Amino acid sequence: MHRRTVLELFAGLAVAGVPSLAQAPRRVVVAGGGIIGANIAYQLVTRGAEVTLVERAQPGAGATANSFAWINAKKRPRDYFNLSRMGLQAWRQLDREFSGTLPLVWGGSVEWRADDTRGTELRAQIRDFRQWGYGVREIDAAGLRALEPRLVPGPLVAAAHWEDEAHIDPVGVTGMVVKKAQMNGARVEYPAEVTALELAGGRLRAVRTTKGDIEADVLVVACGTDTPRVAAMAGVRVPLKDAPGVLVHVRPAPRLIDRVALAPMGNIKQKPDGRIVTGSDFASGGGDTSREAGERHLQRMASVLPELGKATVEKMTRGFRPMPADGFPIVGFAPGRPDVYVAVMHSGVTLGPLVGRLAATEILDGVRVDSLAAYRLERFKG
Ligand SMILES: Cc1cc2nc3c(=O)[nH]c(=O)nc-3n(C[C@H](O)[C@H](O)[C@H](O)COP(=O)(O)OP(=O)(O)OC[C@H]3O[C@@H](n4cnc5c(N)ncnc54)[C@H](O)[C@@H]3O)c2cc1C
Repeated sequence: MHRRTVLELFAGLAVAGVPSLAQAPRRVVVAGGGIIGANIAYQLVTRGAEVTLVERAQPGAGATANSFAWINAKKRPRDYFNLSRMGLQAWRQLDREFSGTLPLVWGGSVEWRADDTRGTELRAQIRDFRQWGYGVREIDAAGLRALEPRLVPGPLVAAAHWEDEAHIDPVGVTGMVVKKAQMNGARVEYPAEVTALELAGGRLRAVRTTKGDIEADVLVVACGTDTPRVAAMAGVRVPLKDAPGVLVHVRPAPRLIDRVALAPMGNIKQKPDGRIVTGSDFASGGGDTSREAGERHLQRMASVLPELGKATVEKMTRGFRPMPADGFPIVGFAPGRPDVYVAVMHSGVTLGPLVGRLAATEILDGVRVDSLAAYRLERFKG
């Protein structure tokens, strides 16, 4: 591990003691093998815990498989930006731990706006995020062409290069992290579902699964949109809201673009395996998932990346973001429960490696990390 990265990642990270189990927990069951559960299991086992990862289907099969998987810290308010920026640093560190073999593309994102109002909005964002120390600069049409020669932006009032960002193949990365956790000693069970908890004196004794009972000191619930159902087995309420999103996946093509492209009519990225993933906007979800709708979307996007006009839709996906009721992550022990740890969030791709690291610190060291203070389940009380 690079000393400089650790210092960067933990610079300003404060921790405080909390009432915890009498002894440091050794046996941890992580429910859910998406990008969050995979990273938590990997960090826990690497730090010496006895870890079992239980996944109902297969690693990366949930929201992770249907994600646009853009790693970015373009978030507000400031506290959430800070957390997400630490998320970017944690990705750099994970990338190094895997010696650059992860299916991950650095280089940032390019964004442009075609009308005055939205152009002014983008310039204000560039100014604000630069003030916060984020790597972003305004570019013109020539600058955009230099970065991504195949893009044809059309009318361009303002454009930006968000330099620190990246994108990944989310299923590929999750599979590799799970494999490394397994190599480091984690037991990985899939397909296997957590069906109930066995408690003794109000505390977790064992986790019931379709592959048998597993004795545990702590259960980590990282089940994405199923988190409320699994947390309820311990009497813990986790409020999520619906947040679907439709994406068009295109058959592998020769390399066309490296960076995430945020165009006025939609977003495009090309995965390391050549597949292009594109959607109309990050908020839309009620969309049509028919092949025809996908083809119509590709025709629209062909105005900025002409090769898409001849591309073939491989599949359409409607994914469900694990979105907490107020939109912000929920990470930490359930109130009054040193045996149940919850980790559910949108932007889980951005935050996965960071949450893995911070959760392992909280679970194994009996401390509370200050940077997670705003993201506790307690905030929903009442
Ligand atoms: C359309 C879309 C676009 C997105 N774009 C981005 C983006 O650009 N950037 C970004 O950072 N984030 C993005 N996200 C969000 C991101 O994908 C999610 O936050 C992240 O994948 C959540 O990972 P997770 O591990 O928490 O959940 P999941 O990937 O859903 O994993 C949960 C796992 O738990 C398993 N499970 C459920 N119940 C049980 C049980 N009882 N026992 C055992 N296992 C169980 C499931 O099978 C599943 O594999 C997007 C999401 C969507 C849908």
